[in-house]
Amino acid sequence: MTAKLIDGKAFAATVRAKVAAHVAQIKEENGITPGLAVVLVGEDPASQVYVRSKGKQTVEVGMNSYEHKLEADTSEADLLALIDRLNKDPDVHGILVQLPLPKHLDSDLVINSINPAKDVDGFHISNVGLLGTGQKSMVPCTPLGSLMMLRDYHGSLSGLNAVVIGRSNIVGKPMANLLLGDSCTVTIAHSRTKDLPSVVRQADIVVAAVGRPEMVTGDWIKPGATVIDVGINRIERDGKTALVGDCEFASCAEVAGAITPVPGGVGPMTIACLLANTLTACCRAHGLREPEGLTA
Ligand code: NDP
Repeated sequence: MTAKLIDGKAFAATVRAKVAAHVAQIKEENGITPGLAVVLVGEDPASQVYVRSKGKQTVEVGMNSYEHKLEADTSEADLLALIDRLNKDPDVHGILVQLPLPKHLDSDLVINSINPAKDVDGFHISNVGLLGTGQKSMVPCTPLGSLMMLRDYHGSLSGLNAVVIGRSNIVGKPMANLLLGDSCTVTIAHSRTKDLPSVVRQADIVVAAVGRPEMVTGDWIKPGATVIDVGINRIERDGKTALVGDCEFASCAEVAGAITPVPGGVGPMTIACLLANTLTACCRAHGLREPEGLTA
């Protein structure tokens, strides 16, 4: 391996430490404790694991965690009523509705019913619009974490060619907007892109957010490029379940200048950025100084 390993686990620990220090300060100076409400509808096992982990880490940085677990057959009216209560609750600075929601619930309607100032996932249409027009917004956690690691590694991203593979609303599009905001020349690739390997070969920065195990191989990577692997895929290998990214780690690491591993790359940064966003939302709600280096 020749690439530098970008250690998302270690980076996330420094983000959490910064959040914890700022939380302690505003508790002491202003008597305010940031609060995050997480709403889980149904019993999807992966979602339950995420929600548990979010709650635990929220408490560890000194914030209040409010978990709302609803039955899978909860009506849309009841869910919207809960969100309305959380929107009005002054102790709740961030609201996250765990996705995917059961099929009978309209995710767009639900997400857009969250007060945009408390929308710590950054999925509300107002925040999408603010980000797209380069204004202060709540930024989706996975792209924000990826941006933080890129800024830390490169310093300035200005003028670099970035190729984002994937155009989802959760990762690909906001990632592209953030890179544009940092003055990269951005290409968004997707399933209809022609000759994807040659597009990716132009990139100084590759962000892979596809959901296809080990699709990007070393021969797609420009020597010295930085590879951010967002993908999380479970595969069977040697009779065991393994977690792999969208990039074939070994071959990409031979060519890249720097690369994030899976697991231990973008994944840990996502929850760390959720905590950072909750703190930012709390500071904005109370007109307090925002933490430095924890927003886009
Ligand atoms: P989506 O399924 O919503 O989007 C996948 C994107 O990849 C689509 O835009 C699709 O194109 C594109 N795509 C699919 N196949 C190809 C192909 N063969 N060539 C080029 N592009 C292709 O996924 P998400 O954005 O939600 O997630 C992507 C990955 O990131 C997943 O593995 C997910 O688990 C992971 N993830 C990780 C997170 C973390 O915390 N680390 C958080 C969120 C997601 P088209 O639009 O044309 O269909």
